[in-house]
Amino acid sequence: MDHRNLHIVVVSTPGIGHVIPVLVLAKRLATLHGVRVTIVRVTVAGAPPEPKLFTVPYPDDLVRILQLPPVDISHVVDESTQIVTRLFMMFRAAASSLRSAISALEPRPDAIVADLFSVETPGICTGEFDDIPKFYFIASNAWFSALAIYSPILDREIAGEYADLHEKLAIPGCVSVAPEDVPDPMLDRNDEQYGEYLKIGRSIPLFDGILISTWEELEKETLKAFRENETWKSIIDIPVYPIGPLTRPAGELKPSSELFSWLDKQPDDSVLFVSFGSGGVLSPEQTTELAWGLELSRQRFVWVVRPPTSGRADDEFFTVGGERSQETLAHLPEGFVARTGERAILIPMWAEQLEILSHPAVGGFLSHCGWNSTLESITNGIPMIAWPLYAEQRMNATLLTDQLSVAVRPAVLPAKKVVSREEVARLVRSVMEDDETGRRMRERAQQLKITGAEALINGGSSHKSLSQLLSKITASKKKQPTTPLL
Ligand code: UDP
Repeated sequence: MDHRNLHIVVVSTPGIGHVIPVLVLAKRLATLHGVRVTIVRVTVAGAPPEPKLFTVPYPDDLVRILQLPPVDISHVVDESTQIVTRLFMMFRAAASSLRSAISALEPRPDAIVADLFSVETPGICTGEFDDIPKFYFIASNAWFSALAIYSPILDREIAGEYADLHEKLAIPGCVSVAPEDVPDPMLDRNDEQYGEYLKIGRSIPLFDGILISTWEELEKETLKAFRENETWKSIIDIPVYPIGPLTRPAGELKPSSELFSWLDKQPDDSVLFVSFGSGGVLSPEQTTELAWGLELSRQRFVWVVRPPTSGRADDEFFTVGGERSQETLAHLPEGFVARTGERAILIPMWAEQLEILSHPAVGGFLSHCGWNSTLESITNGIPMIAWPLYAEQRMNATLLTDQLSVAVRPAVLPAKKVVSREEVARLVRSVMEDDETGRRMRERAQQLKITGAEALINGGSSHKSLSQLLSKITASKKKQPTTPLL
């Protein structure tokens, strides 16, 4: 079916890890299906400059990026205001300009896609946009999506803090979630962000479908539960579209020539990449232990280094991109740079991660397990050391280790307890050395890489799923009064 006359709006909230999959989705809709996409971005006053990625050109001008006037929530937050609360506040502060912006679009949109923290979009789009289908885009996995949708039910059925439970949380048709793995917003039921987080589950049924950045082979059981489990059908009776993996193609950005010429000289699969996503930071003590562990492992590595924090592990979530590079190396153990010498490259603050992971020399990834990073590792066939810090990353780490067998993880939970240098060195060796564990994880990661690529080709499960979504939008457009294209 031809979808070239469709115009889709994607509402995008702040946070690089949220914006990147929106850009990838928009680009895929435009490149593969010829769909016109307008990304309407909620932006924040005083945000630092963004990585170059946001200026990468888009195909045939089919993708437009519309920045809403920056919102300022500084007068209503303080140090204790958690990320999820802030994101909901930002969205609400932008709600009226968002509605006006969508209203003014030409041609009139045929569908609205809302990202994770724009879950209240249907509420602000009532009236004028009632006839337009709305979809919810979760740039994470199906297992987390199931928990988010089921959370209002858990809230009613379970008393006390989830983290104090002795039994796993049962979700219909899915693998149960260990109490220590529940996402951050579920950790404190008295915090405002818990109430906000529950709104995700409560609002999803107002959409016409859910898009998830996963694919059939990766999460068969959970996706089957969404389709076939009777309890699920009674909770949300809307289709789930697995359309992943949503990762941008490597090569859009050019990493520093110094880094790449160094990588070019290293043997295949010999370099560990160490990075904690767009917002992750470690404590001073953990930074020291990690540095010593990397050194003791005697393996090659590339490390994106940030100054340590004495605060929260997500301290840099809204600030990455700032000019703080000179501070970073000062926090490493004395003599570290000289001793690791030829074996290591340290990159302050931010690196072209996808391009690095796609280099043949890179054979392991020590990652905070943000879902984008996870997908970027899997789609390059790279096994991981799972080092979850915040958000839903502990679930992602468990998915990677226990269900997908492509990662090892520290015995203690990073961000709660310090992972010792000996443990770091042991984990690094187990992923990088050519022994049984490393070989098995590498093979498994290669298999998943293949299934991910197959899902995306014409006729593959995710390609089909995205086509089905577009057919649904096209069918609903036919019922609407026609509007001329520009
Ligand atoms: N990223 C990057 N360079 C960095 C850190 C992050 O390119 O130095 C990109 C990374 O490739 C991924 C995104 O930023 O696409 C981070 O998203 P993820 O879901 O992994 O984690 P989050 O930052 O949301 O915690």
